[in-house]
Amino acid sequence: MKDKCGVVGVCFKDNLKKASYSIYYSLLSLQHRGQESTGIVTRKKNGFFSEKGMGLVNEIFTFDSLDSLDGNAGIGHVRYSTMGASQIENAQPFVVRHSSGTLAIGHNGNIVNAEELRHALKASGSIFVSTSDTEIIAHLIIREHLKGKDFVESIAEVMKKLVGSYSLVILTDNAIYAVRDPLGIRPLVLGNLEGRGYIVASETVALDVVGAKYVRNVKPGEILEIDNYCSLNSHRVIRLPKKAYCMFEYVYFARPDSVLNDIPVYKVRERIGEFIGLNDDIEADIVSPIPDSAIPSALGYSRASKIPYRETLIRNRYVGRTFILPEQEARELAVKLKLNPIAGEVKGKKIVLFDDSIVRGTTSSRIIGLLKGAGAKEVHMRVGCPPIKSRCNLGINMPTNEELIANNKTVEEMREEIGADSLKYLSIESLIEAIGMEDRNLCTGCLTGKYPIDISKYEQVKLPVYMKK
Ligand code: AMP
Repeated sequence: MKDKCGVVGVCFKDNLKKASYSIYYSLLSLQHRGQESTGIVTRKKNGFFSEKGMGLVNEIFTFDSLDSLDGNAGIGHVRYSTMGASQIENAQPFVVRHSSGTLAIGHNGNIVNAEELRHALKASGSIFVSTSDTEIIAHLIIREHLKGKDFVESIAEVMKKLVGSYSLVILTDNAIYAVRDPLGIRPLVLGNLEGRGYIVASETVALDVVGAKYVRNVKPGEILEIDNYCSLNSHRVIRLPKKAYCMFEYVYFARPDSVLNDIPVYKVRERIGEFIGLNDDIEADIVSPIPDSAIPSALGYSRASKIPYRETLIRNRYVGRTFILPEQEARELAVKLKLNPIAGEVKGKKIVLFDDSIVRGTTSSRIIGLLKGAGAKEVHMRVGCPPIKSRCNLGINMPTNEELIANNKTVEEMREEIGADSLKYLSIESLIEAIGMEDRNLCTGCLTGKYPIDISKYEQVKLPVYMKK
């Protein structure tokens, strides 16, 4: 089971202050990380309160429901599973009651050895209510805890068994724990609620919205413990010589106003555009983004190439959730509903069209069709992510290798398939330079097929269905 998700945890010193509202606003700002289900679990003294549902954050929670989520500490989650059926059982955070208390957990990432761990747990009597790998983590932690270990020791023990990517928020009777896998694959940051408490979240935008100050990244291999009085303890349990920050967070997944691993995403996307623009010799009238994700790159390209930036496509922001409708027809309708060309800007123009990435190629081919249908003379496709050749097993929702357009085609074949007059991708070297991080600290597995973890050694569950925005 693979999820692209967002997590948040909040603890206020003042135990009369409700964490649920801050969690709610943070989840709203992380909505891009998952639109299928959402949940909040809070804790007051020893009582836990939980609400989960299938849908968007603002569809699930009401003022009344937030008010009834009592307590100064809590965690929240947004989830977009890639499994065919959407199931409420898989909505997070998971709450597990055990003989010495309660534990709630929210996870962003993918546990590669989940099946082995699940078989072993089942064989020794564990019962699962979901198909999610997150529930496995909860069971493993509780098992260690029931042997008499404290939670930091228990989590540390479980981290040694987990293979894969995980940014976790865990709520127990006495603390919140924020945990990041030893390679730091998925993001996780810490913020200070102006001395009133702490927040941990997948991205800094979740801190901004509640007025929290960014403190730092949760370090790869670190367990950050925020106890009930909001004192902070760091336990760096695993320290590896390299990291594997996901490059796709910079390219597409994270919000442009987030700062990931101390690098502003917007700047990276601008540089991506600049790097392609600097080396491009195409003659065009305008450069235009596929909104919204490609806007910073198209601006960077325009600056570097001196080709004027113009919008040619307008996104309807109110269409909402059509993209998660499963049928192909519904998704095709969603594209038309979502993007409409500005006829007057397009007619007779030679357009450089920028997109952040091409996955299956269906979006670019449809949009090139839209622009040509509106009278574009030429459409030259420029792509901010090098060809995606291999499916991610570390937490980004992607189709099978066979469905990836770049998996078995040359650039010329892809150009022909999407109907562009020319097609250029950013190189892997330029991408790494645009991110500005040492190559050995980035995961570029979906571009090179070389992952920081050898996935082939582990049994994988049936391939998830890819559904895109
Ligand atoms: P495709 O039509 O499959 O080529 O999808 C590429 C488009 O979807 C690009 O415009 C991206 O902005 C967006 N995209 C890229 N990766 C994903 C993903 N994992 N989930 C949803 N949308 C994506």
